[in-house]
Amino acid sequence: MNKKFNKAMSKIRSAASIKDCFHPNKDECVMPIKSAHSLQRQGSLKTLEKTDDKGNAFLYVHSEREHNFKNAFYDLKPVGRRIATTFDGFCSFHDTELFKIIENEPEITDINNDEHLFLHSYRSFAIAYHNKMEHLKLYESKDSEINEILDQMYTKSQRNDALEGVKMAINDLKKPKEAIDILLNSNNFSGLEYFAIEYDYTAPVGCASFITPHSFPNGKMIQMNAYSNTQSSIITTVLPFSDRTVVILAALSDDQLACDILNSIDDIKYELKQQKFLSFFIFEGAENVVVSPHFIDIKSLKWRKDYCELINHIADNHTPFLNYNEKTFHINYFDKSNALLH
Ligand SMILES: [Zn+2]
Repeated sequence: MNKKFNKAMSKIRSAASIKDCFHPNKDECVMPIKSAHSLQRQGSLKTLEKTDDKGNAFLYVHSEREHNFKNAFYDLKPVGRRIATTFDGFCSFHDTELFKIIENEPEITDINNDEHLFLHSYRSFAIAYHNKMEHLKLYESKDSEINEILDQMYTKSQRNDALEGVKMAINDLKKPKEAIDILLNSNNFSGLEYFAIEYDYTAPVGCASFITPHSFPNGKMIQMNAYSNTQSSIITTVLPFSDRTVVILAALSDDQLACDILNSIDDIKYELKQQKFLSFFIFEGAENVVVSPHFIDIKSLKWRKDYCELINHIADNHTPFLNYNEKTFHINYFDKSNALLH
């Protein structure tokens, strides 16, 4: 059963795969498209890895799951760095040229440097965009084998919902894509609004996402109807380095709601409260959260089940959005006591 499932998943991956350069200046592109990690190549993912008894390094990604038969729940699945977050979204020229400032020295990222903040945000946005295009390609597939697999996974109406959801998400990405490309081509790195923070230890989490928030830090719910209007979203990058962690949230300056959320996060007085909300924000909103097994595997079975239950709730389009409540939300990736020791 597991083998068959894995084969189906790899078939799905290849059917959905898109190789295309995200950079607006297509005439500069030099092929081939480079297969890159969405989190920085060596640095971030490596810091999160754990090595099992057989010597294989693995990570957890919220979107990669497997059934835990022994304890009867839908568990996180150990995945290798290669599977975790590879993305084919830049040609070899732009991948090298565009990101050389932050890539050549992976630990150089400085939260007071707007060019660094912009480049990380640009890449996270590209990843989110690329993922959505791949989802669209998958749901619109005409391949009979793929359709058979999808028919086993989803009912007709679930699949239709998923397709509609992806189409709307892509529609929401159009305006930001135009705006961020203009900023890129005019070197206007301060043209985004940022909230950036650094912790002087390695948090057990990483992500590169475009998050549509549904809650302010005070619990006030927003954007409750996913099917209405354009949604406000925040480009979110979390980078665990060897001895520190950088969190970068970026919004388009004309997106008032997104800017209000950045300000309200900035206004949270107590560090612990701010960390907690940031954890919720990422947990609830990011599709490709990478979590260190060093953080998850030491927790109790009950904690782990609850954690997975909450991911299921969020992934299900038919459940209501989670309401942020600092008293009941128990995950804090950024608490110093959860730091990874090297
Ligand atoms: Zn290119």
